[in-house]
Amino acid sequence: SGNIICSLRRNLSSSSRLRSSMPAWVIDEYGNNGVLRFTEDATAPSVNSASEVLIQVHAASLNPLDISMRGGYGSNLLKLRRDPVSLGQNGGEFPIILGRDVSGVVLDCGSGVTHFKPGDEVWAAIPPWKQGSLAEMVNLTEYEVSHKPRSLSHREAASIPYVAATALSALVNAGGLCRNNCTNKRVLITGASGGVGTFSIQLLKAWGAHVTVTCSHNAEGLVRGLGADEVVDYTVGDVATELGLLEKFDVILDNVGGDSEQWALGLLKSWSGAKYVTLVTPFLLNIDSMGLLEGAVHSGLNLHQKAITNMCNGVFYRWGFYAPDGPALDEVSQLVDAGKILPVVEDTFLFSQVPLAFQKVERGHARGKTVVTVA
Ligand code: NDP
Repeated sequence: SGNIICSLRRNLSSSSRLRSSMPAWVIDEYGNNGVLRFTEDATAPSVNSASEVLIQVHAASLNPLDISMRGGYGSNLLKLRRDPVSLGQNGGEFPIILGRDVSGVVLDCGSGVTHFKPGDEVWAAIPPWKQGSLAEMVNLTEYEVSHKPRSLSHREAASIPYVAATALSALVNAGGLCRNNCTNKRVLITGASGGVGTFSIQLLKAWGAHVTVTCSHNAEGLVRGLGADEVVDYTVGDVATELGLLEKFDVILDNVGGDSEQWALGLLKSWSGAKYVTLVTPFLLNIDSMGLLEGAVHSGLNLHQKAITNMCNGVFYRWGFYAPDGPALDEVSQLVDAGKILPVVEDTFLFSQVPLAFQKVERGHARGKTVVTVA
């Protein structure tokens, strides 16, 4: 790792936008942590269209998705999204750069970019089909980028965008919540001690909702500190029974999946527009195992059947997904600068320690986010 640090210092100190190669962590095949490879010669991105923004990465963070993508999760659909004409061609997607969050500085902009200029401090959640932030530079479209909160360092800021974009998409688009309709709404968040959960608690409290969460006993202090009103320890007793003793909910954001789907829907208020939104969906897994067409059809039928069954019981069943949305991050940026949303950084790793950061996230039991400082 000494060599890596030396080469990083050398490379990062020279002008980024003039070079055709850059330091990055890449994978050339899917697998365990052994497939992560540091290189000084990854292809450097450059602005190729009017709407693009080239960013120098100062900090990145890891999500469970990075661990899954390292192992090939989602590869069938993501390959197609990256390059529709390469359908069926194996291995054409490599080398892949992982890392879905960036906080950094704008280096260059396309001629049509109106909201950003070189030197601006920005943050973004990078779509999984694009090259990621475990690199010196990343290229995004203007719509995906937002001005970073002034009150946060790059290290702190990198902990927020991907979980924020996911939570906003799930709570707003699927859950029907927004800053103007949360007063008197009761929301349950399962798996609240991780990245999405710690962000969602704060967002919902800023919007005025009443928030109940599930987590392990040793995360109770963390989630209460972030504003959770009621905390149920899922490691003691039967979590479904405990939650069943409480008043019913308007929205459930499920970060855990598995058997929670069996009991969570019964905790919703009936016939009042209440919604269950799960982030743990079989969509990409189905496409990985069955292929594009069959996987998509199977997923669609599965979702439709559950939605209809639950509609008959007076509640909505929905899948939540990350969606790139720079303007939504602008709103988050304001909440952060107003002190209403705090970054929750559990661990920080140097760029030379990326494999250790992956090991940390892969062990699970996250308490907020794992960040990687790049520059
Ligand atoms: P994290 O790994 O950061 O957090 C998961 C948290 O859940 C951990 O704190 C863990 O702590 C806790 N947990 C585990 N089991 C339970 C349980 N049975 N009850 C309550 N808490 C539990 O994940 P993220 O917050 O980043 O993501 C949450 C989920 O959403 C993941 O499955 C992720 O893959 C998915 N996701 C889906 C997206 C989409 O587009 N559909 C986008 C982003 C995330 P402990 O084990 O110590 O209790």
